[in-house]
Amino acid sequence: MTTVAAYAAPAAKAPLERTTIERREVGEHDVLIDIKFAGICHSDIHQVREGWGEAIFPMVPGHEIAGVVEAVGPGVTKFKAGDRVGVGCLVDSCRECENCEAGLEQHCLKGSVGTYNAVGYDGEPTYGGYAQKVVVAEDFTVRIPDGLALDVAAPLLCAGITTYSPLKHWGAAPGKKVAVIGLGGLGHMGVKIAHAMGAEVTVLSQSLRKKDDGLRLGADHYYATSDEKTFQHLAGSFDLILSTVSAPLDFGSYLGLLKTGGALVNVGAPEEPIALNLFSLIGGNKTLAGSMIGGIQETQEMLDFCAEHGLGAEIEVIAASEVNEAYERVLASDVRYRFVIDTATI
Ligand SMILES: [Zn+2]
Ligand SMILES: [Zn+2]
Repeated sequence: MTTVAAYAAPAAKAPLERTTIERREVGEHDVLIDIKFAGICHSDIHQVREGWGEAIFPMVPGHEIAGVVEAVGPGVTKFKAGDRVGVGCLVDSCRECENCEAGLEQHCLKGSVGTYNAVGYDGEPTYGGYAQKVVVAEDFTVRIPDGLALDVAAPLLCAGITTYSPLKHWGAAPGKKVAVIGLGGLGHMGVKIAHAMGAEVTVLSQSLRKKDDGLRLGADHYYATSDEKTFQHLAGSFDLILSTVSAPLDFGSYLGLLKTGGALVNVGAPEEPIALNLFSLIGGNKTLAGSMIGGIQETQEMLDFCAEHGLGAEIEVIAASEVNEAYERVLASDVRYRFVIDTATI
């Protein structure tokens, strides 16, 4: 076991504080990663505050991890010391079920293991990236291409793959009109990636406050959803709408913005159920779909795509001691667009 410094929430809703945790020995197929940066995802806050149900404490959040390989186990073939690597939302799965075989490890039928707030197949709790080092199986480690700086790459491990996977699956491409609801951590990556895929991109945001940013990040159009006229003006406009917000939305209104046969894909995770009049789906043969991150191979593909197109996250780097303040700012939508912890400050 190796003792490493980390930031942890000792109990539900408690502020995070500096502590130490034990990392397992580097096993045959493990990689020891010297973490350089860890992104702050909205889901870290949901879990620290038990918004999604009972959680495991102490909790070291963080599933947007970027770092450098420090050591590898004797059976590791894909990585060596000095390689630049990332870890996202998963650190293990059964690797043999139908979904794992299909590269959908996040939907492992025996249960994938989350990077934190989970229990591994070894029975030990997992601790995430707000820490100086982590030991991860090589099969759940991805390579960060040279063209991407580690700090702007970190948020891609969740925000990048969460938006890349549904945009690709639902056909964002030249000639397609794609709308992204919400210009936050997820949404800003959705805009960049959809634009890089060649789609005509529209941002649907509560207000026009971030309009200049949206256009700079690659959007062609930007509308305020607080303006009722937006829903009249854009009725029947889009092939695909990606909802990235974690507040409950009136999906019925947004379904009205789809073309016949269009799809609204939700990646946000509100804490409360929503109500929906199903006539809004029946009329126009529309699809309301969900998407959860992406598999390991697709995460690598996303990183390669982002490197090729020069896409990193827009970030604000903070010291670990600022994490509690950063959480409040995320909740107030006061971040452009992702906080990233410089783990050297832990
Ligand atoms: Zn996340
Ligand atoms: Zn599986």
